[in-house]
Amino acid sequence: MKTIDNYDFRGKKVLIRVDFNVPLNENFVITDDTRIRAAIATIQKIRKEGGAVILMSHLGRPKNGYEEKYSLKHLLKNLSEKLNTRVRFADDCIGKQAKKKATALKSGEVLLLENLRFHNGETKGEEAFAKKLAGLADVYINDAFGTAHRAHASTAVIAKFFPHNKLFGYVIANEIKSINKVMKEGEKPFTAILGGAKVSGKIEIINNLLDKVDNLIVGGGMMFTFIKAQGGKVGNSLVENELIETAQAALSKAEKLGVNFYLPSDTVIADKFDNAAIHKIAKSDEISDGWMGLDIGPETVKNFQTVIENSATILWNGPMGVFEMDNFANGTVEIAKAIVKATEKGAFSLVGGGDSVAAVNKYHLQYKVSYVSTGGGAMLEYIEGKTLPGIAAIEE
Ligand code: AMP
Repeated sequence: MKTIDNYDFRGKKVLIRVDFNVPLNENFVITDDTRIRAAIATIQKIRKEGGAVILMSHLGRPKNGYEEKYSLKHLLKNLSEKLNTRVRFADDCIGKQAKKKATALKSGEVLLLENLRFHNGETKGEEAFAKKLAGLADVYINDAFGTAHRAHASTAVIAKFFPHNKLFGYVIANEIKSINKVMKEGEKPFTAILGGAKVSGKIEIINNLLDKVDNLIVGGGMMFTFIKAQGGKVGNSLVENELIETAQAALSKAEKLGVNFYLPSDTVIADKFDNAAIHKIAKSDEISDGWMGLDIGPETVKNFQTVIENSATILWNGPMGVFEMDNFANGTVEIAKAIVKATEKGAFSLVGGGDSVAAVNKYHLQYKVSYVSTGGGAMLEYIEGKTLPGIAAIEE
């Protein structure tokens, strides 16, 4: 892998695509700076080795040019503190001012460019726009795993202007290493745990995982499509009727391959989608009309915990229930705890996808699993076996 470990950055202008797409509140204060923290190691290494660092990122989804709430200037204070230097800023990511500030930048200094998506050439992957960005530097580093599945100007197209000087930063390198550790070199037994609302977004992952895992655990809203596919009664639970056949095919594939496909035997049902709803435990395949399953039940928790605690490799994506509501969070918390326990016993555990990451953070378990992925969509596509444009562009 072309990483920053063996490259002479002395006297070089180094353009890094980072993922600074952080949440801001209405006063433009950062509410979660995980992504900024993740990027620090790469930046500091290059500064220490004599490179001048130019940072570029997107923030949010601006529609048509400049929008105050999406300006990267809101990140300057936080970033300057973390890097222990005064970070400079260019009001536009291309154009005269950016060029002038980039040219004047000295070894060890840092320049942050304004939001790339204020130009629609970014998401369109326009070559002319990428060329202008490329003109600011001698070396290009992609360290934005969260957008590696997009063929945007700054994440993929730009790489062609640096045929011999394009590298992966530590964020991407670590993500790839961790995912490969699970998908390619994972010790057995390998257990994948999938949850969340919908089967539709995850069916390709299920198919790809079935070729690799020993155990597949399915919880969350997506369980009911499988339970209905087996002939169960799911009441008013979330079901994707158009995917019943797909679910049946996945169940048969698992059987053919000898993969243990675990579905919840019991579930916490509620009379409405509300934390204050009346709720009770029921068998997952005997849910009466008017009731919906919102979490996995206690018997299921126990069974899943046993499988997880006896695993050597674990991949988790998606909550087991509506964990945002306290009354339906237990399944997700208990599964997170079982993953922590397995990790303490020596298993390698990878947690990815927005909601499972939110769940481990909420229960302060993020440092007790082996790796928490920073890129939801990108991680899922990588696991599906797809080629990510941002990764391919550096490797080519
Ligand atoms: P996803 O984006 O597909 O990973 O889905 C995450 C969402 O699934 C979370 O907001 C959960 O509240 C929701 N979810 C989990 N279990 C259920 C369930 N049994 N019924 C409805 N929604 C659920």
